[in-house]
Amino acid sequence: MSYLVLARKWRPKSFSEVVGQQHVLRALINGLDQNRLHHAFLFSGTRGVGKTTLARIFAKSLNCEQGVSSNPCGECQSCIEVDQGRFVDLIEVDAASRTKVDDTRELLDNVQYAPSRGRYKVYLIDEVHMLSTSSFNALLKTLEEPPPHVKFLFATTDPQKLPVTILSRCLQFNLRRLELTQISEHLRFILEQEELSFEVEALTQLARAADGSMRDALSLLDQAIAFGGGSVSSETVFHMLGSISQDQVLNLLQALHLADAKSLLNQSSELAALGRDFTVVFDNLLSTLQHIATLQLVPDMELPETGSEQLQALANQFDAETIQLLYQIALHGKRDLNWAADPKSGFDMTLLRMLSFQPSSPPAVEDTPLKKSPSLRKPAVPPPPVQNDVPVEIPNPQPPEASHLAPAAMEPVPPITPSEQQEQAAPAAVSAVDNAPLVTDNTLISVDLSPANWTQIIAELKLSALTRQLAENSALIRCEQDAVHLALSPELGHLATDKSKQRLTSALTERLGQDLKLVFADADAHVDAGPTLAVERAEQAAERQQQAIDAIHNDPTVEIIKNTFNARIIEQSIKPID
Ligand SMILES: [Zn+2]
Repeated sequence: MSYLVLARKWRPKSFSEVVGQQHVLRALINGLDQNRLHHAFLFSGTRGVGKTTLARIFAKSLNCEQGVSSNPCGECQSCIEVDQGRFVDLIEVDAASRTKVDDTRELLDNVQYAPSRGRYKVYLIDEVHMLSTSSFNALLKTLEEPPPHVKFLFATTDPQKLPVTILSRCLQFNLRRLELTQISEHLRFILEQEELSFEVEALTQLARAADGSMRDALSLLDQAIAFGGGSVSSETVFHMLGSISQDQVLNLLQALHLADAKSLLNQSSELAALGRDFTVVFDNLLSTLQHIATLQLVPDMELPETGSEQLQALANQFDAETIQLLYQIALHGKRDLNWAADPKSGFDMTLLRMLSFQPSSPPAVEDTPLKKSPSLRKPAVPPPPVQNDVPVEIPNPQPPEASHLAPAAMEPVPPITPSEQQEQAAPAAVSAVDNAPLVTDNTLISVDLSPANWTQIIAELKLSALTRQLAENSALIRCEQDAVHLALSPELGHLATDKSKQRLTSALTERLGQDLKLVFADADAHVDAGPTLAVERAEQAAERQQQAIDAIHNDPTVEIIKNTFNARIIEQSIKPID
């Protein structure tokens, strides 16, 4: 099968064919039609979003033999030559390869001469931020007194690196990364025009992999067509990208909801057998969890075309906190993938961790009447009768690993509201309250917490999984009367939900027998904050790991084995034992 590469064949030849960037198009079209044009334009934006494409259409609009307009004829000699990339008055320069001042001078020396064929000489300088300081100075002279027949179009991925003197003489446009649907719809349009068969989900996958760049999307599409022998199926695209289908992700989540460890591991083995890239699988999982989280908060959100019913069902089955937690665990799993013995076992461990941390299916506890707080599950539509509320037995939680995520073991603490809190308070706490004076002036109480006892007290609290994450990652700054000031890293801000803050407040109030309130601050602004339990545990784990590594290196038997077999120690395989 022979065809012109799609990225080139379907490069937009007129403004009306450009996908997205409407804000830029409007300004250019108005300027051209009213013949009120600035002499220098700066297009900034990431790669493959259409900077040079726009510049070329602009050059054509200025030089079309039918006259200057936003709608060049596309048929005259000038238009054809621009399209074919051989129009003499469109001078394209890649600044990345011409940074020396001499090069720029040579380029600008010719600026004074009239255009040889068209009305305007158009200079398109790509990656303009790469020019040297002296080149910028040479350019600046021209920009200060531009000849009337010259237009400059600058493109850059890094506008911050441009001198202000240059910036201030340009009309600036920031090109946006294209949205997933803009890309997938354009791919669909092209395939329909090319009369090639395709599956919609495959296009979504390609668009996602292109990450905002239409150029990347088109070259991926080219590969997919070649790979699939002329058609674009989900199967070939998943294989090509190492990703998995929406159905496969949804099945994983369904098994998690049912706490079916066997099914989870079987599915993971299937993915490995299919040669899937687990980093990409994590990406698929993360984006699906993000979809579910959004759906829980914005029930009328537009859904992807495939698996929307199942997605909706999962949004009803899981509570919002669990989805946040699963997302967090998946994120960590993806990050730690390189450290795992192999990608599949890293993925398996992440799945098992998700399973053991899931607070929505509480383990059987005889003496605590488990009530499901109605506020915990907020179904957008009534959940299907089956699969929800099925009592499920949780397998033994995995032993916590040495990671700042690890210590959140399953706690049999049901979500409780403040009123329930009163009824369920432990006997000890009740008697403490009984003995306290009936009237307490809270504003005079100073809470009995300090950076020295903070981590110890946190470690002893009984908390549900998300609240535990919040507690372990918070550092104590100070106590002021009844206000406990805590520092939390901005990137962990999502842990501080209203509910988790309320639960941590209740737990601390109960533990200390004092009314208090929590005040969270940005950790970066508080270098004086005490340690967090998570950091303390991670440091202890790192120390134990180092001791284990030292012990192995100093072990005489290991030394003999090394020498006898010419062996070496793989440090990552060393694990401390208790
Ligand atoms: Zn023309």
